[in-house]
Amino acid sequence: MSSAVELATYPGLDERVVVLRAGDLVDAVFVRTERFNVLVDTLDTPARCHAALALVDPFLYERPLVVVNSHMDWDHFWGNAAVADRAVIIAHEEAHRRFHAPSTQQKLKTKASEDVSFQDVALQAPTVTFQDRLRLDGGDLTLDLVSTPGHTPDHVAVWIPELKTCLAVDAVEAPIPVVSSEDPQDLRSLVASLHLIEELDAEHVVLAHGQTNDPLVVSQNLRYFEELASRVGRASDLAFLRDGDPIPDGLELTDLVPSSTNLSPSARTFYERFHRKNLRATIRSVQGASSTM
Ligand SMILES: [Zn+2]
Repeated sequence: MSSAVELATYPGLDERVVVLRAGDLVDAVFVRTERFNVLVDTLDTPARCHAALALVDPFLYERPLVVVNSHMDWDHFWGNAAVADRAVIIAHEEAHRRFHAPSTQQKLKTKASEDVSFQDVALQAPTVTFQDRLRLDGGDLTLDLVSTPGHTPDHVAVWIPELKTCLAVDAVEAPIPVVSSEDPQDLRSLVASLHLIEELDAEHVVLAHGQTNDPLVVSQNLRYFEELASRVGRASDLAFLRDGDPIPDGLELTDLVPSSTNLSPSARTFYERFHRKNLRATIRSVQGASSTM
């Protein structure tokens, strides 16, 4: 894997907000304010994060750097070692627990055995954590860090009110986001986070995957979960689906999101896995609701 990163933007997006794109894997975002620069996510390796910072080098030494980890998924924070000696790294309090979970080191071991670029990754934890909201006052721009759980319990989105721009990271995804677990509470959290982001009425909703800033994706994601719940509610005798079990008619990803037929075969397989997990969570949620009636 190469550590290539390129600068990207979207039509109408303010020039103080720059997308740092690591191929098809993930996007990080660099925001310049009067008082400090903010890097939202450090990508998947320190080498990749260094390559990203080199692209914004002219601005880097003008002001202090503040780093935000949107959540503790490997593709968003494994680059932390590239900035740990020069910046505070802010994350949600739940990130602390996830960072120290045995599965985090296990994931690194597995990735390093598959790909040499992960062999020198040294994981660095966030240094500042918060619970609900944290405001970074950059002078000209405000960055509101907002807890948006559901995709993961520690997920944080960034709202920049002056620019009507939301860095939604993985709370919103095209074609669909994925819920953290099959626990109905996580599904409720993800839908609540989508509503919270929708209510911001942003002009730009910048995602970490899917390379779009289209705010319509938020309502499309919400409609997907609403339609899924409604179809599952109408279906009779839905067993809990195991991996490999056929998905009943009307409940396939392509039934819920017809445009998913345009995905590449590998992307389609990837998002069908997301969909199966969302479907299981929805089945549990609907069955739980009917058993308590
Ligand atoms: Zn992600």
